[in-house]
Amino acid sequence: MKKVKLIYNSGAGQSKFTYFLDTVIEKFMNNDIEVSIYRAGEKENLEEFVKNSDSENIYGIIVAGGDGTINRVVNIMMKYNIKTPLGIIPAGTSNDFAKHINMPYNFSECLDKILKNNVKPVDVGKANDKYFINVCSAGLFTNSSQKADKNLKKAVGKLSYFITGAKELFKFRPFSVNIETDDEMFFEKINLFLIFNGSSVGGMTYFTSDSSIHDGLLDLVIIKNCSFHELGGLVAKVMSGHTLEDKNIIYKKTKTIKITKVKGKCDRPDVDGDEGPEFPLDVCCIENGINMFL
Ligand SMILES: [Mg+2]
Repeated sequence: MKKVKLIYNSGAGQSKFTYFLDTVIEKFMNNDIEVSIYRAGEKENLEEFVKNSDSENIYGIIVAGGDGTINRVVNIMMKYNIKTPLGIIPAGTSNDFAKHINMPYNFSECLDKILKNNVKPVDVGKANDKYFINVCSAGLFTNSSQKADKNLKKAVGKLSYFITGAKELFKFRPFSVNIETDDEMFFEKINLFLIFNGSSVGGMTYFTSDSSIHDGLLDLVIIKNCSFHELGGLVAKVMSGHTLEDKNIIYKKTKTIKITKVKGKCDRPDVDGDEGPEFPLDVCCIENGINMFL
């Protein structure tokens, strides 16, 4: 009998996934797959559970949680070079990656999709020693999910990120960076940068609509230092799905990006909604880094 390893985040979002556990077990067992379950919490040894998963006998590693939980599992899979496919059930506060790969929000449909066994390799981003599946970012608004109060997160879900972000706006000052991509080097005073593996972030699906997790490239988006007034216009433009053509936006595709902070204050970069590595950042795209049920 084959096995799946299921990791679920009991505290994730306003998720009802825990009520669904029995159905999950039933569905897999009906397909002759045994389920071994890991309840991810604060104190744990997730690495122990995930690390020995590269066996013919294991159908997949399934994560029911948000971007943060997926990120942790992907980091372990990359560390141990695990090629067993990863399946995502969108059960977190923020499910940007699941949205990007079109996993159904209905848990049952999602499992049906995983059971079709359509496995493809996808790219993984790497920032210094931390892997990311969605985005690595720093600057204005970018680490709201890290900073958002836990209780606020539980009560209002993703809205808590916007509340936290809005509070930050009034204190924020631009910072200067040196940036080196595959083909150029430049200095810029910026509000924020986002490095996408190929996805939507914060629900802004159109933001980089032509980015892909299969192209071996990262999408770098920089919002330059600009007036408060211009910034408002930019955010509105981005949220409404307009193009990234603007004098205050730098947008390019590249395989590698080096970012060195030169002047000014900026919080530690964020990877997939969690605390990332310190500057200077050395970021690259690992083409076909992991296998996934798509
Ligand atoms: Mg890409």
